[in-house]
Amino acid sequence: MSTIPLLDLKRQYKTIREEVNAAVLEVLASGGYIGGPVLDKFEQAFAHYTTTTECVACHSGTDALYLALRALNIGPGDEVITTPFTFIATAEAISLVGATPVFVDISAQTFNLDLDQLPAAITQRTRAILPVHLFGQPLDMTRLMAIAKAHKLNVIEDCAQAVGAEWAGQKVGSIGDVGCFSFYPTKNLGGCGDGGAVTTNDPEIAAQVRLLRDHGRRGGYLHEQVGMNSRLDALQAAILQIKLRYADTWNAQRCAVASRYHQLLSPVKGIILPPESAGGKSVWNQYTIRILPPTDASLGYQSYRDQVRQQLQQKGISSMIYYPLPLHLQPVYQSLGYQPGQFPVAERAAKEVLSIPLFPELLPVEQEQVVHGLKDCLVQAASSS
Ligand SMILES: *Cc1c(COP(=O)(O)O)cnc(C)c1O
Repeated sequence: MSTIPLLDLKRQYKTIREEVNAAVLEVLASGGYIGGPVLDKFEQAFAHYTTTTECVACHSGTDALYLALRALNIGPGDEVITTPFTFIATAEAISLVGATPVFVDISAQTFNLDLDQLPAAITQRTRAILPVHLFGQPLDMTRLMAIAKAHKLNVIEDCAQAVGAEWAGQKVGSIGDVGCFSFYPTKNLGGCGDGGAVTTNDPEIAAQVRLLRDHGRRGGYLHEQVGMNSRLDALQAAILQIKLRYADTWNAQRCAVASRYHQLLSPVKGIILPPESAGGKSVWNQYTIRILPPTDASLGYQSYRDQVRQQLQQKGISSMIYYPLPLHLQPVYQSLGYQPGQFPVAERAAKEVLSIPLFPELLPVEQEQVVHGLKDCLVQAASSS
């Protein structure tokens, strides 16, 4: 039986093989592997794509977040508000600069920060808000920016999963003070290795990120600050430059896959479909459903979902749990003193979510197979629990 992967990067490579191979060979022959015109060109193209004036490419999305926080001078004694339902890197970057992540629960509708609860988390020490456009779904940036403005807080958008997404007609990464992107291979715009970028309309922030990314210098051997080595290789820049041209096409294909899932899955009982954002345009990095156990199930939410996932796997259908444990309950953040039950919406989501295969090249017949398999598994799991 053929397996349906969560994501198939080999299929995508086949569609652009000639272009990518040529670009890679060109860089290899050029002898310039770090920085140079290939990198400059990509930074300009990415700034243009995100409708910002500045883009500074770096080694990863994690570094992009770290560099953005450093550039805003956020450090020890400062608090940064973020979501507990995200990849660890979001909070990790806050900790790495010496600041404290302050978590606020998510909204049950969107998986993103609950803006109703956000103002209550603001203290004297709060310096910034770090929202995540999770799964490609943009957050209500109009409301978030109004809250930030009223409290004079910086906004750093974690756009790792949302390249090309829009809120109220504006591209994510161009709305807050800074946007942070990842080019990790599984993101909507992925390189062939690690990569990231910071976008901003503020030349001072961009200059500061540029300085910190290269050992705190403007060039030469005069070091003004403690920086780091966080470069994007010329090879990655060359590959990304080509893939960027396809970003909108691939995002549109992802949207088509998502609509098809919506259509096929809406009659299915026992699951909740992912939200379709009203004021924004999602780019569907993940299609994440919630699996609800039957009311008489002896198993808890989590084991029921895990059982469905296991049965799907047996049918050759891949799926993933993004994310199984919210950040406030992670061992690494035990010292922050959060308790189970403190963020019930995130905790419940962690027990119910299941991301199913979604990528631009996924075929309709494969989607039908996924939906069929899922229906079977739900029946199977319900009868055995
Ligand atoms: C992937 C990801 C990151 C980190 O990006 P890397 O390039 O892997 O360092 C940060 N935040 C979110 C939400 C992500 O999904």
